[in-house]
Amino acid sequence: MIPFSPPHIDDAIVNEVVAALRSGWITTGPRTKQFEQKLAAYCGVPRVLCVNSASSGLELMLRWFGIGPGDEVIVPAYTYTATAEVVVHCGAKPVMVDVDEDFLISVDNIRKAVTSRTKAVIPVDIAGLPCDYEAIMSMVKEEAVRGMFEPRNEVQRQLGRLLVLSDAAHSLGAWYHGRRAGALADITVFSFHAVKNLTTAEGGAICLALPAPFDAEALYKQLCTFSLHGQSKDALAKTQVGNWRYDVYECGYKCNMTDVAAAMGLVELERYDALILPRRKQIFDAYTQAFRNDPRFQVPTCETTEKKTSYHVYALRLKGVTEAERDAVMQRIFEQEVSVNVHFIPLPLLTAYKNLGYRMEDYPVTYDNFSREISLPVYYDLTAEDVQQVIAAVKKAF
Ligand SMILES: *Cc1c(COP(=O)(O)O)cnc(C)c1O
Repeated sequence: MIPFSPPHIDDAIVNEVVAALRSGWITTGPRTKQFEQKLAAYCGVPRVLCVNSASSGLELMLRWFGIGPGDEVIVPAYTYTATAEVVVHCGAKPVMVDVDEDFLISVDNIRKAVTSRTKAVIPVDIAGLPCDYEAIMSMVKEEAVRGMFEPRNEVQRQLGRLLVLSDAAHSLGAWYHGRRAGALADITVFSFHAVKNLTTAEGGAICLALPAPFDAEALYKQLCTFSLHGQSKDALAKTQVGNWRYDVYECGYKCNMTDVAAAMGLVELERYDALILPRRKQIFDAYTQAFRNDPRFQVPTCETTEKKTSYHVYALRLKGVTEAERDAVMQRIFEQEVSVNVHFIPLPLLTAYKNLGYRMEDYPVTYDNFSREISLPVYYDLTAEDVQQVIAAVKKAF
């Protein structure tokens, strides 16, 4: 059986994790701090805070911005539940909008959904392709949109407009207008979950790129505390002899990254551009080569003059099929010992969101994209022969 996306665990990772375990320091410490600095340099942002998942990173930043009951946050209907659930956790309302044919949130639909209650937008770089951030960032600064913004606290007053919080769970290493994902929105959150391009088993990172008067260094320090109970000293600082007394400034959260996880991340990031992305690109290119000229298939956009994907999900679409027919094709692919997937089941089709009143009919492009989509396996250890087996299985199944 060809699996869908197993992690690439080799001696380099095992050795670095063992070194972390033997170092005498296993939770947030020197490895996490080093990983944060390397990520910041990689993405071209002043500061990065590592956390234990993208979900907690997104929620932490919504709470930092003071999102709460009565507020609205715009999200795409086509995404994973994490993007919207964090809004629900804050007591605010996720306002879903339809996406474009390229799976990415429609900028026009965002503009139409803005009300005086809107506080933030969460664009999602589905499959690794960055959203149109230039259009999104200029839209939130438009007179008409900015004029509707009603700040309710000091942080919101300082920004003076909607917060653009990028869900970049898929797009570490992607490019847009000569800049990397991480540097494209006010705040960007990456995921290092086991199935993502770069994994720490579980983990996430928050890239800070807010405009003045926000100070990345000061905000980073504040968020270190906010992500660790609101406590004045972290565990490492308290190990200094005599340095036991601490204060708690506010009732914070608990979502810090461990040094054991950061050990994996350091190894992965070190070889990310040289090995991981090129291998994923090779696999993407082989799929595109095989399906591009076959009229039954629609291949995904991976590169334009403006942007380049991080090669996270190969989202193939079948042409002229219903959802049931797509499901049947998938079944026949599985029968040939190949694992495929669907990214994603749109939120309005899931019980939790149906119960909140969202209806699939309101998001026709999202439904059309979903109903014809099949994600093909992409992972470091997938061989050229495996790729040919996947291609043959998909064609035969259809
Ligand atoms: C995986 C994923 C997340 C959540 O990441 P975690 O690190 O598991 O919290 C959020 N958004 C999208 C689009 C994802 O695919």
